[in-house]
Amino acid sequence: MRIAIGMDIGGTNTKIVIADKKGTVLCSKQMPTPSVSAKNPGEIDSLLINSLKDFLADDSTKALISTPSKTAEIIGIGIGVAGLIDRKNGKVIESPNISAFNGLPIKEKFEKEFSLPVVLENDANTYAYGEKWIGAGKDFDNFVLLTIGTGLGGGLIYNGELYEGPVEIGHMVIVPSGRYCTCGSYGCLESYASGRAIVDRVVSSLEKGAESLLAKCCEGNFYKITPQVVYETALEGDSLSREVFREVGQFLGIGVANLINILNLEAVIIGGGLIGAWDLFIEEVKKEVSKRAFKPLSANVKIIKSALTKDAGSVGAAGLLFKKIDPARGGSRQSAS
Ligand SMILES: [Zn+2]
Repeated sequence: MRIAIGMDIGGTNTKIVIADKKGTVLCSKQMPTPSVSAKNPGEIDSLLINSLKDFLADDSTKALISTPSKTAEIIGIGIGVAGLIDRKNGKVIESPNISAFNGLPIKEKFEKEFSLPVVLENDANTYAYGEKWIGAGKDFDNFVLLTIGTGLGGGLIYNGELYEGPVEIGHMVIVPSGRYCTCGSYGCLESYASGRAIVDRVVSSLEKGAESLLAKCCEGNFYKITPQVVYETALEGDSLSREVFREVGQFLGIGVANLINILNLEAVIIGGGLIGAWDLFIEEVKKEVSKRAFKPLSANVKIIKSALTKDAGSVGAAGLLFKKIDPARGGSRQSAS
């Protein structure tokens, strides 16, 4: 049996899966993304490599890879990282959440350490590929995947293939002179439709004295409010919380309308930590799209939930590895570089 390792290295957590060529996840593990500190000295690349070594040395992983009757063959490692990727050289150019990764030659380091081919890609792109491979995008050749968590990421499947380039949908400007964005610009979609945006928006209203159930939670410390807390108070009927999710839907809808107009999509798939609140924003997304997108282009576009809520990026990274490395899927070892 041929299997691949998929890693999704995020700002907070790292997920690792082992998947077969059909996309079945044989085992998975989540761990905190290591960071270099006095308690955790060393180089960031060694710490990441150690995370994978620990996973492979785990008895349950070993039992899966090697049984008395057969030994599975690991054909390579697919890695998704938040940030701009230099695919040619297998480096992270810049990672907004993990600055220690900037310039890090991840592909070379992992290939040397594990003597396996490595494919490096942006994490939202591996997520989009995962949806195409085994998820909600299986039947579409042209779709955008939006992943809404702390920030807002995006990936594009075009003519059936992953578009292997930066798709910084979160930094599409939708409000002139709007809110400041972490990228240095103003009015980016991410500043209006993300977990961070939700928290900033409610804290700003509460500081101005808005009435809300949120004022009483978190012991009066507004800075302890999380998107989950806002979601829960919205379900309790809190009008500020409900309004904030409605606004998220409105701005997201403007962004989605722009994407439909430019890319002639069959579907827009929305995933990430915020989709638990789907019912609180999706109607507004659809309303904005029907109001703003070019009708002949938007009439048949499906706006749907991601099917890969768990392990999405890591499964997609494993899938991309199979596609690039396994000759049986039409790839070649050379194409991985
Ligand atoms: Zn921005």
